[in-house]
Amino acid sequence: MLLRRMLPIAVSVALLAGCGGPAEDSLEGRADSGSLTIGIRFDQPGLAQRRIDGKFVGFDVDVAKFIAADLGVDEKRISWVEARSADREKMIMSGAVDFVVATYSITDKRKQQVAFAGPYFETGQGVLVRYTDDEITGPDKLNGKNLCSVSNSTSAQKVVDEFAQGVRLVEYGQYSDCVTALLAGNVDAVTTDEVILAGFAAANPELLKVVGPKFSTEKYGVGLPKDDVQGRAKVNGAIDKMISSGEWTRSFERNIGQSGIEVPDPPRITEQ
Ligand code: GLU
Repeated sequence: MLLRRMLPIAVSVALLAGCGGPAEDSLEGRADSGSLTIGIRFDQPGLAQRRIDGKFVGFDVDVAKFIAADLGVDEKRISWVEARSADREKMIMSGAVDFVVATYSITDKRKQQVAFAGPYFETGQGVLVRYTDDEITGPDKLNGKNLCSVSNSTSAQKVVDEFAQGVRLVEYGQYSDCVTALLAGNVDAVTTDEVILAGFAAANPELLKVVGPKFSTEKYGVGLPKDDVQGRAKVNGAIDKMISSGEWTRSFERNIGQSGIEVPDPPRITEQ
């Protein structure tokens, strides 16, 4: 009799414990604690830049803030951590960040270690040169040149795979260092995604220009731990809302508009 009376209580306690909310170490669980740590770039004009007053601005920053807000986290409770190209997988796998929004291309190789939500943006690899250069007019004119890119980026990998003969690849840790080397005359060109290069060109319009066609397809995803399926679904939902509310387009115009890149159609979310 006692057992029969106790049973419903035991069942409800078990239900509360088991299904009461998201696991603490899931993205939703951590967002429920009120704050998030997000991996971002500090030095990419238009996409993600840390301003002198400590504020972060750019399209990637807006995407990250939108996702955080959708998870119930105010932007004041976001800790921003620099996520350079070579560090992104490590930072996600170690739990140093909750997610990464950092011009991060979705690739099968990376998917062996992390998961992606999105894509939230599509671009392609391009070439940046000094404004006065009329020799390098595109990727087919790089023979014998010193070409700068960033370690562990898809851009550097593409140079190794497709331009290795005749092109000298110089690798730095971040694109702003490549741009400094270009302006100083230490390298002849910089290669990475066109949207990144366009941001640097817009910041130095009398010194730099983007040349030639795009020669790859890069789909930017939000990097997450591999096993957090629900977290990925939540982030996809937030990206969807950012697009359908018009905020995606407004943010692109605000941040990338002056670089001359036309507002593209938002991509279709494929990472489920
Ligand atoms: N989107 C490319 C990548 O994820 C190049 C840009 C970057 O390094 O962030 O490798």
